[in-house]
Amino acid sequence: EKEALKVLIDAPSISTDGHHVELAGNIGTPNDVQGVLDNGGEGIGLYRTEFLYMNSQDFPTEEEQFVAYKLVLEGMKGKRVVVRTLDIGGDKKLPYFEFPEEMNPFLGYRAIRLCLDRTDIFKVQLRALCRASVYGKLCIMFPMIATVQEFKDAKAIFEEVKAELIAEGVKVADDIEVGMMVEIPAAAVLADQFAKVADFFSIGTNDLIQYSMAADRMSEKVSYLYQPYNPSILRLIKMTIDGAHKEGKWAGMCGEMAGEPDAAAILLGLGLDEFSMSASSILKARKVITSLSKKEMEDVAAKCLEMDNAEEVQAYVQSVINK
Ligand code: PEP
Ligand code: MG
Repeated sequence: EKEALKVLIDAPSISTDGHHVELAGNIGTPNDVQGVLDNGGEGIGLYRTEFLYMNSQDFPTEEEQFVAYKLVLEGMKGKRVVVRTLDIGGDKKLPYFEFPEEMNPFLGYRAIRLCLDRTDIFKVQLRALCRASVYGKLCIMFPMIATVQEFKDAKAIFEEVKAELIAEGVKVADDIEVGMMVEIPAAAVLADQFAKVADFFSIGTNDLIQYSMAADRMSEKVSYLYQPYNPSILRLIKMTIDGAHKEGKWAGMCGEMAGEPDAAAILLGLGLDEFSMSASSILKARKVITSLSKKEMEDVAAKCLEMDNAEEVQAYVQSVINK
């Protein structure tokens, strides 16, 4: 089976009726780039930069970060690279930084919330990213955005950092896209408004499902509520994609759901533009996408949106794609 998939490494990700999507890889370090290329990845849809911070004795310097970002951008040779700014907190702690004691760390001081509070930390990362931007096609993505104001504030800090660098005589690419993760239900519901200010969305289903179902993604006891195929989740995904398209923006997905073959059928039908997943899932996803008609999947997705439970959705999709 592995050999059979290999022929798809350089194949385009086009549905049987000619609709193109991008299949990209999720990475945690520059070392992961090769694996994405070897598996036919058309870009990096999520670079989780927190590992740079977690595998360190102190906050990584601007130079250390610049080196890592440059490696990834150069490695991808002009293909799109979406770098997520620091997503720390929740279950991800740092040995050299004291987090506040909170009852619910997943609902607390983390990710963009921390970065907007500690702009000193945030600016170092944005400087490194701007400096690396001339080595490829950079997209910057903010995690855990809940309000339009948060996005605007983060974007303003990016613009400030960029202007500072240019004033220092440093070259910065002028086509950096600045987007956001949609992983808080509030952002999905208001996607049409967010799309007026953000250049793109990437749906983080790992958190979107956790927050929508009020079920801790780390808890075994409530894991039955982790339901990617629940129509409520599908509707939030649809709102996000439609919101983006209304403003001419693109919508991707970088949560685990993007790499599930059954989900790919629905997501193709909903109009998702980019699917980002672990490198090992890319070729299987390409096999599914290239065997389906987008037009037909639009009807399939529409039916799923009218169902009332995840089991029915998944059984229906399986019956369609295995026929
Ligand atoms: C997500 O929430 O879906 C996501 C991709 O980010 P992480 O798993 O790193 O929280
Ligand atoms: Mg997340």
